Amino acid sequence: MTTTLPAYDEVVARFEPVIGLETHVELGTNTKMFCGCPTDFGGEPNTRVCPVCLGLPGSLPVANKAAIEAIIRIGLALNCSIAEWCRFARKNYFYPDMPKNFQISQYDEPICVDGYLDVEVGGETVRIEIERVHLEEDTGKTLHVGGATGRIHGATESLVDYNRAGIPLVEIVTKPITGTGALAPDVAKAYVAELRDVIRTLGVSDVRMEEGSLRCDVNTSLNLPGAEWGTRTETKNVNSLRSVERAVRSEMLRQASVLDAGGRITQETRHFHEDTGDTTPGRSKETATDYRYFPEPDLVPIAPDPAWVAELKAALPELPRVHRRRLQQQWGLSDLDMQSVLNAGAVELIEATVAAGTTPAAARKWWLGELSRRANESGVELAEIGATPAQVAELQGLVDAGKLNDKMARTVLEGVVDGEGSPTEIMTNRGLEVVSDTGALTAAVDEAIAANPGIADKIRSGKVAAVGALVGAVMKTTRGQADAKTLRELILERLGVQG
Ligand SMILES: [Zn+2]
Repeated sequence: MTTTLPAYDEVVARFEPVIGLETHVELGTNTKMFCGCPTDFGGEPNTRVCPVCLGLPGSLPVANKAAIEAIIRIGLALNCSIAEWCRFARKNYFYPDMPKNFQISQYDEPICVDGYLDVEVGGETVRIEIERVHLEEDTGKTLHVGGATGRIHGATESLVDYNRAGIPLVEIVTKPITGTGALAPDVAKAYVAELRDVIRTLGVSDVRMEEGSLRCDVNTSLNLPGAEWGTRTETKNVNSLRSVERAVRSEMLRQASVLDAGGRITQETRHFHEDTGDTTPGRSKETATDYRYFPEPDLVPIAPDPAWVAELKAALPELPRVHRRRLQQQWGLSDLDMQSVLNAGAVELIEATVAAGTTPAAARKWWLGELSRRANESGVELAEIGATPAQVAELQGLVDAGKLNDKMARTVLEGVVDGEGSPTEIMTNRGLEVVSDTGALTAAVDEAIAANPGIADKIRSGKVAAVGALVGAVMKTTRGQADAKTLRELILERLGVQG
């Protein structure tokens, strides 16, 4: 079936979107949530397991204190209230990658509730309300073998790896986000980006979306202005910031086309496809009652000492938003300029380049100029471009020392990005150093004057602007390896004209 999707502008003119985000973050603790098994990635299948995380009869879980500390710090950073007493719950469902046939999670007694996270979208601050932050254990991984796409259909056998079973997961659930209109996809993306930065700053997870340590489910619905909220769908496991934005947008368009045709939205989970940017239906959504939650009888309740919580709160690091404000002030940037730094994903890169001894203006020039352009051309993130802050600082150092002019510095930077070595090595290897030998330069200047008598006369008669033509001529003979400013002064001096 081919349906023509309506135009996005037209959809947001007629419908109001409501979105919600559920984000899972794998904590970077050394051991699992309820046992002492190691959590590091990449072991042989089923080597990081014990009776507890294999769910063997008679084994008893014990909660990991480091995980509880981590989730409380996340809750505090998200402005949540921390429960003085709460319990784990069993969430019952039958999957082969869950050996106990239930997952230890939290249900009606989450440890952190009622917080918020402020995000910047298009120069405006949008407050995203957080409903809850709770702790649970991850499942194992199922691998279907023999099928075409790793899916269960057509597979000849299925293998289960329990190494991941029991790794602590934090789930962060927003309240429904309304009133964002056409910006809904951008708000969703900005929220996940900000949340990732907050958690990275806390140092409790490496929050790598591409490796699955941060996973996002996106709820979307549409309603007519003034009407009740529409039925929502849940797009599962969206694995990049760009995909978060695309998933919301594509689901808004799809739902609008269903509603326009007089259809109804089915409450279901949907899968996002990175290649096409579309979603396709998954399973019809279970409701909470399907899981038969009940309090976990094998674990004592969590009752964090308020004094400990206050201590954790006092020790929180400077959070990204405050940090960015401070940098903006230090770098002397307008809101608009800071926004372009943020959009380019260059905050940390510029910060590190400045720390390596460069001025903020020079650092910003390289990262937002040449390097952003190269990153866009090759479709990679700026941080993956192949030049490091230390190299950019070294390059600027060569410019400041008068060894490279601007044009040559750009050539050297190209070499850095292409992996030819450090800026100094490239400058030497490619013979790209400003000609500072005044003797050689003077000879080249005299030659250019002799070859262009008309221009020389113009300059002598007061038309100093014409000096550009002679600068160009000398640059050509020195293959661009002269400093333009020095050259200009030298030409005027040789012509006996005051600059
Ligand atoms: Zn274990």
